[in-house]
Formats: sequence, structure tokens, C-alpha cells
Amino acid sequence: MNNVSHIPSYLSPEHLGPWETFLVQIDRVEPHLAPELRPLAPILTRPMRALIVNVPIRLDNGEMAHFEGYRVQHNLARGPGKGGIRFHPQVTLSEVMALSAWMTVKNAVVNVPYGGAKGGVRVDPKQLSLAELERLTRRYTSEIHILLGQDKDIPAPDINTNEQTMAWIMDTYSMNEGRTAMGVVTGKPVSLGGSLGRKDATGRGVFVSTVEAARHLGLEIAGARVAVQGFGNVGEAAARLFAEAGARVVALQDGSGAIANPAGLDLQAVKAWRQTQRSLLGAPGAETIDAERFWSTDADILVAAAMENQITAANAGLIRARLIVEGANGPTTPEADLILQERGITVIPDVLANAGGVTVSYFEWVQDISAFFWTEDEINARLDRIMREAFAAVWEAARSKGIVMRTAAFVLGCERVLMAHKLRGLYP
Ligand code: NAD
Repeated sequence: MNNVSHIPSYLSPEHLGPWETFLVQIDRVEPHLAPELRPLAPILTRPMRALIVNVPIRLDNGEMAHFEGYRVQHNLARGPGKGGIRFHPQVTLSEVMALSAWMTVKNAVVNVPYGGAKGGVRVDPKQLSLAELERLTRRYTSEIHILLGQDKDIPAPDINTNEQTMAWIMDTYSMNEGRTAMGVVTGKPVSLGGSLGRKDATGRGVFVSTVEAARHLGLEIAGARVAVQGFGNVGEAAARLFAEAGARVVALQDGSGAIANPAGLDLQAVKAWRQTQRSLLGAPGAETIDAERFWSTDADILVAAAMENQITAANAGLIRARLIVEGANGPTTPEADLILQERGITVIPDVLANAGGVTVSYFEWVQDISAFFWTEDEINARLDRIMREAFAAVWEAARSKGIVMRTAAFVLGCERVLMAHKLRGLYP
């Protein structure tokens, strides 16, 4: 069955966007699913619920502005919805649907008891003042309130949202409920029921899964050359952990451009420069390079930690790294995936590599619900164990079935979700 032909009427078939990527991935996975689960697979090709809201806010100049917001719950068979909220001018329903579906798979791959959800507002937050951003966040939260709750749907940060955004969401939800509800959102400040270790968790998961892959590939992390796309929450933490383990970060790219130093960039100096200059370009000890040179950097490991559709058919042939690690969600297009596969480049897929964030979000939720908080060492040790176990399961599935890691991770995740459907049965 070709899932791409089964598209909902509310998306444009000519501009399917990221949802098409997800459908192609499901197409590739279906033949490898356990035969008794295969008939249930079409349930994954439709989101369970998609809420589209208007978010009107008062601007500082007294005028009113309207923004489009979404919350999509792709699948709730294994537990409440879980997934981040993104503020970006190019957010679309298709994108939020795809991101929610990847959360379904990801949560199942690391075996946390959640379904998949995602939210977004179509806004350029840089155009808003802090007060406007707070009003936007609070109104959006109120509009999607009917879906939220610690046992219903638990948002978290994503692109352009952070601890402060989560604190506003927690407060807005709590005000509407008339009680303090810490477990409704994760990625909160530690003083408001957030978890130690959450900030670095995704980068840490990227690092741990890379260490596991490197072991299998006979690649030493100490001395390895690493190129990182994206120097935000995920990319910065991953780059720092690689450098701490003795690897050299030889190239970095973010929205401002790309820099390189074959001897290894001084990450602290780059970070300090970026904070004051709002750009990587001109950072001390770094040469500015163009995008083509970034993709063809002579590196052992490439970490894609910016956003989706970055590794495409146009640049997949340039990549010289042996190992690509997807810190971002959906950074590799399906066409690029085939090119990388042909070229023998190992890809640790997003649904595994960046699952560290949701894993520590799960720890945060457990701590909030039990009102009992753990030490950072406990959190990191549990995170490392879950990441290593998930990596081993995906690696073994890939090896035994002779498939790439993305397909293997999807098989593992989708089978867990479909097994939940099979056991629960079809209501009514
Ligand atoms: P962020 O906003 O902190 O950082 C994004 C980085 O990507 C910035 O450095 C930005 O300059 C860069 N960037 C944006 N557009 C770019 C482009 N066209 N080319 C090069 N660089 C570009 O976001 P984040 O939280 O680090 O998230 C990054 C990715 O990781 C996203 O795909 C997100 O969905 C995914 N992710 C994040 C988490 C998390 O815990 N934050 C968890 C799982 C997945």
C-alpha cells in the first residue's frame, strides 16, 4: 500500500510538506512489521486529533494581531500525549502533524509511557516584545486547554520556546484549573518543578547514542572530528559533551552561517561570541565557510541539530562523515536517506538520537506527580541507561533484519504502538 495516496482532505496534496516524509517512512517500515500487526498500520497514517486555533493578542501599541496555532495528538494508545511546542513563522499543520507522529514513534522507541503530540504557533517570536510573547503563550495555552492535562497531553519546549514559556503555560493552565498543576508541562525551571539535567538532556542523548554507534563502528570518540549543524539547546550541549570527551568540533553551522577550524573550535569562545554578536561569524579562532564547505567538512561525525529538511539530495553526496546523528527532528529527507544508505553512511535517526529530551521530560513528570525530586547524577545515570538500551534494541533489529537504523527504530516503535492497539481492541 502506498500511504502517500491516503492523504487527509485538510492537507494540500501538492504541498504535503513534512507529513509526506512521515508517510514515506511508514511505507518503508510496513513490510518489516510483524505480520499480525501489519493490518493495523494504517492507523499511524492518520493523526488521532488535530486542533487548529486562532490566537488573538493585544500588541504593545494597542493594536490586535492574530496568529495561527495548532496542537496535534497523533496517537494516544500508549499513554498521554507528549511533545513540544514550537514558535516559528513557517509552522504548518503538516509540520505539526509530522512532528507529533515522530513523537509517537520516539516515545515508543525509548519505551516511555506516552503517546505522540506536538504543538506550534505560526509566529516570528523575534518580532514580539517579551510582554507580547507572554500574552501569545497564555492565550495559545487557553485555546488548547481542552486537550491538556498531566494525564492527557503534556507539552515541552521546542524551537523558540524555553523554560520561561513552559512556566507561563504551567501558570495559565493552573489559573484556569484553580490549582497548581506542575505535571502539565515539562522543561520548566527547576524552581517550579523542573528536572535537573533536562536542559542538556537531548544533547546528552545525542552524545550517548553516538558513543554507542562509534563503539560498533570501531570509531574512537577521543580525537574524532565532529561537525555540528545548529548551536542551540541541542547542538550546543552535544558539541560541549563531544569536546569534553576529547573529540574536536571542527565545524559549526547555525542560522547566521558556518565556521570551521580543523584543529578544533574553542566552543566557550564561540558561545561567548555568539551571545554578544548574535552570530557565529567572526568568532575567535574560526574561519567563515560557506554552506557547501560545511556539508563537505572532513569530519568523522556529523550532528544535524538545527531543523528539518537540512540533509537533502543536493548535499547528501557531499558529506564525508561516516556517522550522521540526527539531533533535530526530520533533518534528512527520504531521498537523502537513500543516498546516504548507498554511500554506506550510518544514520542514527532522530526518533532514537534525540530521545534524551523526552526521556528526562518523562523523569520530570514522574518527579512532579510523586512530588519527590531526584539528584542530577540519578537522572543522568537513568538517562544513559535508557538511551543505551534503546540504542542496543535498534542496532540489533537493524542487524538481524538487514535494514537501516531508521527503519529499525520505526519498526520497534511502531510495533509497540500497534501492539497497544491490538491489546486494547477497536472501540466500540
Ligand atoms: P534552538 O532554537 O535552541 O536551536 C536551533 C539552532 O538551529 C540554532 O542554533 C539556529 O541558529 C539553528 N538553525 C536554524 N535554522 C537553521 C538553518 N537553516 N541552518 C542552520 N542552522 C539553523 O532549538 P533546539 O531546541 O536546539 O532544537 C533543534 C532541533 O532539535 C529541532 O529540530 C527540535 O525539534 C529538535 N529537538 C529538540 C529537543 C529539545 O529538547 N530542545 C528535543 C528533541 C528534538
